[in-house]
Amino acid sequence: MKIYNTLTHRYEELEPIEPGHVGMYTCGPTVYDFAHIGNFRAYVWEDLLRRTLKFLGYRVTQVMNITDVEDKIIAKSVAEGLTLQQVTEPITQAFFEDLDTLRIERAEHYPRATEHIPEMLELARRLQERGLTYTSHGSLYFRIDEFENYGRLSNLENRQVMSGARVDSDEYAKDDVRDFVLWKAHKPGEPAWDSPFGPGRPGWHLECSAMSMKYLGKSFDLHTGGVDNIFPHHENEIAQSEGATGQPFVKYWMHAAHLMVDGEKMAKSKGNFYTLRDIREQGHEPRAIRLLLLGTHYRSPLNFTFPAVAQATAEVGRLDDLTARLDREPETVGRNGSFDGVVSTALDEFSSALADDLNISGALGAVFRLVREAHVAMDKAELPRDSRRGLRHALERLDGVLGVIAKPALEPDAEIDALIGQRNAARASKDFAEADRIRDDLVARGILLEDTPQGTVWKRRSAPEITPIRRGPTPRCREPPMPSRSIRRT
Ligand code: AMP
Ligand code: ZN
Repeated sequence: MKIYNTLTHRYEELEPIEPGHVGMYTCGPTVYDFAHIGNFRAYVWEDLLRRTLKFLGYRVTQVMNITDVEDKIIAKSVAEGLTLQQVTEPITQAFFEDLDTLRIERAEHYPRATEHIPEMLELARRLQERGLTYTSHGSLYFRIDEFENYGRLSNLENRQVMSGARVDSDEYAKDDVRDFVLWKAHKPGEPAWDSPFGPGRPGWHLECSAMSMKYLGKSFDLHTGGVDNIFPHHENEIAQSEGATGQPFVKYWMHAAHLMVDGEKMAKSKGNFYTLRDIREQGHEPRAIRLLLLGTHYRSPLNFTFPAVAQATAEVGRLDDLTARLDREPETVGRNGSFDGVVSTALDEFSSALADDLNISGALGAVFRLVREAHVAMDKAELPRDSRRGLRHALERLDGVLGVIAKPALEPDAEIDALIGQRNAARASKDFAEADRIRDDLVARGILLEDTPQGTVWKRRSAPEITPIRRGPTPRCREPPMPSRSIRRT
C-alpha cells in the first residue's frame, strides 16, 4: 500500500516495522460534549484506513485515546457541580454509541487519560532527566529549543519559534509556538494527582505520547488525526517521545482534511456544527452519512450540505436495490462463470484504488460499475446461481471495507410479507379500496411496492425528503424535524 506521509511530504510504500502487522494510533475525543460530524469525518476515515489495511491482508492493532481530563472538561464539571467522571462517562458512552451507529469498527484499545497518570509521570521524569524540561510556578514545561528536530512535521523551520514563552492551556491558538506544559500545577477547585513535580495534572500532549508508546512500543508504524492536530499536538508528541527515548517515534503520519460548512471548518467553537444525533433526528440514514464522510478523498476538504446527504442516500439506495433484487428475484439459468470476470475486475480495481493512498473515488467507481453490470446481467436473465453467489460474496468483501450495505434489510420482513399477502388477497377479491389502504400504509412507513410478473416485490424508500437548511439566530444550525412519514425504518 502507498500512503502520503506528512512527515516526509512524500508518497511512500507502507512497510510496517513488524512485517504484516500495522500498529496505529489515532487521536480520540475529548469527552466533554457529543462529537460533531466533523470529528466523525476523521474517525470514519480512520475506520476506512483500518478496514483497508485488513482487506489488504495486514493485521492491525489500533489505539484510540479517550481524553477524560482537560480544561474544557474541568470547566464543565466546575460549572455544573459534577465530578470529572460524571461529566465524562455519559459522553464516552454516547461516543461509543455513535461509533456503532456509523459502523466504525472498534479499535483494540481505548485507553483513558486518567487511568495512565503513572505512565505520563514516568515520561515526564525521563524528559527531566535528559535536561529537556524546566519548572516554573509548580508546572513542568518542555523546553523546545533543547530538541533539535522540533518543527519537522509541520515544517516550522521558517517560522519563529518562541522558546521560553510558556503555554499551559490545552487549547492552542494556531501558530502559537512556545514551550508547552507537561505537568500543570494544581489550581484550587481543580482535580490533582500527586507527583514528583508537585500536585497537578497532565498536559494534553503528554497523554498521547505516554499511551501510544505503552500500547504500541517506543517506535510504531502509523499515527493519524485531522490536519489541525499536526501543529502543535503531533509536533509536541514527537518532541516528548523522541526526547525521552532517543528513538524515532512514528514512521508514517497521516492527516485528514476538514469537514467544512460554508467554507469554514465545522467546529464547536464556531457553532456551525451538527452532531450525529441532530442529523438522525431529521430522518437521515446513518449509512448515508458514513458514505458521505468517506466518499471524498481524505486529504481534500469536504463541504457538508444537505443535497450531498441526499446524494449519498440515493447511492446507498442503489446498493440496497441490488441486494434486494438479488434476494427477491428468482434465479435464472445461463452460463455459469460468465459474470465472474466482471466480479474479479471490480475487486481488483477496488483493491488497487484503495492501496493507492485510499483513492476512494476509484474504489467507489469500481463498486458502482459492478452494481450496474449486475443489473444488466439480471435484466438479461444471465446471472445463474453460482455467479450470483460469487457476486454476493464480492459485495460482502467490498462492504467489509465500506460498511454501508444494509444487511438487516436483506432479510425478509415477515410483517411486510404478511401485509403484501393481505393486499394480494384483497385485490383477488376485487376489494381495491382495502388493497390501496394497505399499500398507502406501507408507503407511509417508507416501504415501496412494485407489482412484477414474478409477484409483488418491496423495497425501502431510498431518499428521505430534503428540507432546506435554515439558519436561525441561534448559534447551532438545526433544521426543522423531518415529517414522520419520511422517516425510514432500517
Ligand atoms: P478534538 O475533539 O477537537 O480533539 O477532535 C477530535 C478529532 O476530530 C481530531 O482528529 C480532529 O483533527 C478531528 N476534527 C475536528 N474537527 C474536524 C473537522 N471539522 N473535520 C474533520 N476532522 C475534524
Ligand atoms: Zn493525540
